[in-house]
Amino acid sequence: MVTRTLLLLPGDGIGPEAMAEVRKLIAVLNDTQSAGFTVQEGLVGGAAYDAHGQAISDEDMEKALAADAVLFGAVGGPKWDGVAYEVRPEAGLLRLRKEMELFANLRPAICYPALAASSSLKQEVVEGLDILIVRELTGGVYFGEPKEIIDLGNGQKRGIDTQVYDTFEIERISGVAFELARTRANKVCSMEKHNVMKSGVLWKEVVAATHKANYADVELTHMLADAGGMQLVRWPKQFDVIVTDNLFGDMLSDVAAMLTGSLGMLPSASLGAPDPMSGARKALYEPVHGSAPDIAGKGLANPIAMIASFAMCLRYSFNMVAEADRLEAAIAGVLDDGMRTADIMSDGMTQLSTAEMGDAITAKYLTLSA
Ligand code: NAD
Repeated sequence: MVTRTLLLLPGDGIGPEAMAEVRKLIAVLNDTQSAGFTVQEGLVGGAAYDAHGQAISDEDMEKALAADAVLFGAVGGPKWDGVAYEVRPEAGLLRLRKEMELFANLRPAICYPALAASSSLKQEVVEGLDILIVRELTGGVYFGEPKEIIDLGNGQKRGIDTQVYDTFEIERISGVAFELARTRANKVCSMEKHNVMKSGVLWKEVVAATHKANYADVELTHMLADAGGMQLVRWPKQFDVIVTDNLFGDMLSDVAAMLTGSLGMLPSASLGAPDPMSGARKALYEPVHGSAPDIAGKGLANPIAMIASFAMCLRYSFNMVAEADRLEAAIAGVLDDGMRTADIMSDGMTQLSTAEMGDAITAKYLTLSA
């Protein structure tokens, strides 16, 4: 029987509540479809700090490196606001991204028909929206050196960040975008600022060369990142896959996120390079939202972002495409049935707790599997 190892890192705040709903689905997949998931558990963020004085222990880091995929909840909260910078909760996520070499961040923005009316944009602009933002995650201005504040000695200081990209970094992130486009509408739009940034000039050149060499069947367009932000709110359905750097991706993916409603609906995946022997990529799946301390422990958290992250895990780490499609259809079906958590509640709908929403999606998944 096939064995698939999952490491669950629920983290802090609403992370454990949302992860509990994924556990139900893992059990259903094992029981009804012999999916063969072996589940390991670990601590991350404030929970790991309380237990080990670190944002993730070396032992849990090893489990993450050995697992087929990691499911991550959320980290942080006021309890740990005063802890040392190196062991703050977010350091656990940054260590995972760094040591697993997760260079590609995938953020889909899908507008479920049942929620189209509650978007801040007009219904016709967002209804049926399905775009994927592929953000470079380990390079660019967040990591480039020098990165410092220097004292100029005249009462002035200078803050410096360095935007830097090498050819291989652009080749590998654009390769991921082109490959994913082939499984979707086969279109990639690359966004940079070649009009004012040297790194943008190189980005555009390398994306074009990668396209010509290996992915000429995919439709490629280029857009300045500021114009891209404007087009995302004007007519987002023109896009299929958007590929962009770390800084622009951070902003553009947040813009795209708000097209679809609540933070509680948004999944993400972070992928590494394929293993040369097995072809498998290291991968971490997590909701976009944080630990939401304001609602933690109250049964108010929307578990859909976490569950949709698990659907991405089925799709990208285990090639369980039919199961991923069915799970996404189960989410859409439950919303069509008028079920809502508090964050997406509207008149005439039925409000459910976190666990009730998880149960409803699990039941719908089973119905769709029958
Ligand atoms: P947040 O995403 O935790 O919450 C923002 C708002 O959205 C809150 O009002 C919250 O109640 C609501 N919300 C978020 N997820 C929800 C869900 N699933 N269902 C219903 N409502 C939801 O962001 P924040 O308040 O800025 O940060 C809180 C803590 O989370 C901080 O410590 C921050 O550092 C951390 N954080 C962690 C991550 C991560 O773990 N990847 C990401 C962002 C923030």
